[in-house]
Amino acid sequence: MVSRAGLVLKPYLLAVTGGIGSGKSTVSHYFAERQLPVLDLDQVGHLLLTEEDVKLALYLQFGADICANDGAIDRGKLAARCFLDSAAMATLNGVMHPKIWQYVLQWMDAQPNEKILVIEASVLIEAGFASRVDGVLVVMADRAIRQQRVALRDCCSEERFHQITAMQCSDASRRAVADWVIENNHDLLSLRTKIEAVYNELLNRVRGALT
Ligand code: ATP
Repeated sequence: MVSRAGLVLKPYLLAVTGGIGSGKSTVSHYFAERQLPVLDLDQVGHLLLTEEDVKLALYLQFGADICANDGAIDRGKLAARCFLDSAAMATLNGVMHPKIWQYVLQWMDAQPNEKILVIEASVLIEAGFASRVDGVLVVMADRAIRQQRVALRDCCSEERFHQITAMQCSDASRRAVADWVIENNHDLLSLRTKIEAVYNELLNRVRGALT
């Protein structure tokens, strides 16, 4: 985008983050409905697992145990290998996080005329991406509510939920980098009202940069 002074500005990059089941995807869908381009970094991670250089890097780190018969990375095996082993998880992240960020940069470069771009990033803080974005929207909900919602959504067991939350950063560290916090403990209508308020503030912020 170009300011009135003729300066070429990059699109404003908003990150949506939060704990498991907090409502990140629901919030991101709202932005997509408003025609903002949205990139889900979990999906980027899955896509990158099919790329040859990533496959090779992971194969060299973890060996053939993480591969399916056809040589593809088996996500289930990879997750099982890294899930309860923090050193293995750090190794996996060391391969994936730089690749994911590289993908984000290419995605941004491909749409220089957009005013606002949104990434949905569950690992924003853990991956060290928070300082690289222009704004952070944290979605929060009480733990019991999140657990109930993901159990309903995809039969996530209590044990699995606890394992995932144990690997994720704290609400306090999310709040520390937040430009906006949306509490999502009530119904979808209430959530929508809060997102609309953030969306309007976001537009004002970007308009401000253009004047
Ligand atoms: P994950 O961390 O697993 O990727 P997420 O943070 O993206 O999850 P969502 O998938 O958006 O969370 O929400 C979890 C579930 O809760 C979904 O089924 C969603 O439809 C539902 N949900 C989200 N917000 C609300 C709400 N306010 N009221 C009722 N259900 C909700």
